[in-house]
Amino acid sequence: MQNKKKTAIILCVLVTISLFAIIVLGLDAFWNQNNSEIEKLPRWDKRALEDLHKSFLADDEDKESEFWKGFNLSKQSILLISKESGYAYLVNPTKNVKSIFAKRVNESKHESRGHKKFRVYRLSRFYPAIYKIKIFGGNFNTIGESTKVLRNEVYYLKFDSASFTKQYSSKHFTTFLYHEAFHYYMQNHWRGGSRFSGNLSEIDENLLEEKLRLLDDARNLMDERVLDRHRLTDIAQDILKVEKRREKENPKYVVKERMLETVEGTATYVGILASRAVEYDFGPMYFDNTKNADFSSVIPFYKSGKLEEGFLRDRLPYETGAELALILHSLDPRDNWQRYLNEQNLREQRTLIDALEQSLR
Ligand SMILES: [Zn+2]
Repeated sequence: MQNKKKTAIILCVLVTISLFAIIVLGLDAFWNQNNSEIEKLPRWDKRALEDLHKSFLADDEDKESEFWKGFNLSKQSILLISKESGYAYLVNPTKNVKSIFAKRVNESKHESRGHKKFRVYRLSRFYPAIYKIKIFGGNFNTIGESTKVLRNEVYYLKFDSASFTKQYSSKHFTTFLYHEAFHYYMQNHWRGGSRFSGNLSEIDENLLEEKLRLLDDARNLMDERVLDRHRLTDIAQDILKVEKRREKENPKYVVKERMLETVEGTATYVGILASRAVEYDFGPMYFDNTKNADFSSVIPFYKSGKLEEGFLRDRLPYETGAELALILHSLDPRDNWQRYLNEQNLREQRTLIDALEQSLR
């Protein structure tokens, strides 16, 4: 008798919880069907969609893509997850979206401009199929991770207000999305870069400083209104020369650094171009409280103890790589250097320095 009573109570509790969950899901789904005009979305959700649309438009001008040959994020399905409002937005699904949990966001403003490619569906906050990503997933899809939402293979990214409010940040919404998505879609057949843990000698440091000074020279030159291509070619030649000396001096360090410089530098470069499309101020050597820091200040700072060795190993290759990519684009605006890098595979790795050598031939 006791046991029967217990079972009845447990059953009653379970039924109540289930009913409650169904009511919450239903109300949430019903709520999601209303107020879906872009103007009525929460502030940062609206901003994320508008910025994504802007970068898609900028990238779409050329059929082959504007930022990087063969990489066109507007042709992929993207899932943006707002950490603050709880909504998720499925952008440009390739498979038909039919679900009570999804509602097409009314893009009246954009559609009137005749751009029909940008299609957005808002998913209700308690939509069960994405609980897993919301609770256990990282901030974005990493290489090799596959995510499906409503039968669509998506690239997902989580964002919040901090994705928009910080200056000079590599974590800015567009900057971060393009950087990470570039790793995901374009580099799964690149060998990648691991950190070198040995020490740099005095000669290594001095040679690195020479390279960094040349990067400053190149940047100053590219800032001029009219580009002196001849002079830029000379600087690029000098960079190659100093790289040869560096490699001879400390091959283990330099070979690993070049792979990291290539993988992270190209992703940072794509993030920079996408940032420009949404008018966000970002470039190489941007830090929380300063922009366009001099490359040549790195070694003196490091020697005076103001910079840790980890900076040289883990962060500097992002910056030098992005600058090298900008130099390559100036030397070869048709971006054959990108095609050259795209052709690498796990057996044959190609670095930005290889690409520079190739484009100067
Ligand atoms: Zn990266």
